[in-house]
Amino acid sequence: MTDTALPVRLVDGAVAIGGRPILRGIDLTVGSGEFVALMGANGSGKSTLVRALTGLRPLAAGELHLFGTPFDDFAAWQRIGFVPQRTSASSGVPASVWEVVASGRLTRRRLLRPLSRSDRRAIHDALRVVGLDDRARDGVSHLSGGQQQRVLIARALAGEPDLFFLDEPTAGVDLPNQHALADALRQLKGRGATIVLVAHELGPLAPLVDRAVVMRDGRVAYDGPPLADHEVHHPDFGEPHTHHHHATPAAQHDHAPDVAAPLEGPR
Ligand code: ADP
Ligand code: MG
Repeated sequence: MTDTALPVRLVDGAVAIGGRPILRGIDLTVGSGEFVALMGANGSGKSTLVRALTGLRPLAAGELHLFGTPFDDFAAWQRIGFVPQRTSASSGVPASVWEVVASGRLTRRRLLRPLSRSDRRAIHDALRVVGLDDRARDGVSHLSGGQQQRVLIARALAGEPDLFFLDEPTAGVDLPNQHALADALRQLKGRGATIVLVAHELGPLAPLVDRAVVMRDGRVAYDGPPLADHEVHHPDFGEPHTHHHHATPAAQHDHAPDVAAPLEGPR
């Protein structure tokens, strides 16, 4: 596969909000079929980065390509699925599980046409992947937070994206639902999807991760092999004395022994 076919390639990206720099000097590539965990403390810029990569937040600087196409020319939005970070309470909108998931087919359908057989198959398949096929007729508001999260994932899945962004899908979700989510993502990964997952902690998702990217204060502090949750949250992690180099794990610098230890084992 050529370099230009990379699902995501951002070079020296920056984002400012209200004149305040939020992200700086972001270099990030995501390879086809890769599962990348985007980690880091609250406020480090994870959601802002995902919004920038999906075009919801403009870049103040930098060059972004999606599937090898310069962002301004990119039009294949049906290839991209996005599950935004959940806001606190459920909206109470009386939509059924089926309706919410069906809305994920909108980018593939012509307006005001009835659902085609392939639409119905994709919706049913998405519900099966997240384990909610028996809840299709239920109102979303009757589901638990973790189940609602799975409905949102099924909605994104129904569009059959190749590139999938999920922002903190496990935050506030109980362990059984985290395992259900891990099963769904494992199936997606098995189909060759590229996944960028924002997570404060990985929990049951950890075995799926190919690569970790850790944000700190609006910069990439680490980009390399997966880290255990406790390594990401180490207080010394990504301190300014560890110079940022493209694709260079911070662990290879001095003063980060707790992070360096597991990475310097046999490869
Ligand atoms: P994370 O997802 O890692 O918790 P965010 O990307 O949400 O971090 O936020 C990064 C920084 O940008 C924070 O300092 C946050 O306060 C700021 N920020 C994010 N969104 C906005 C916004 N809409 N208006 C002002 N500041 C924002
Ligand atoms: Mg966030």
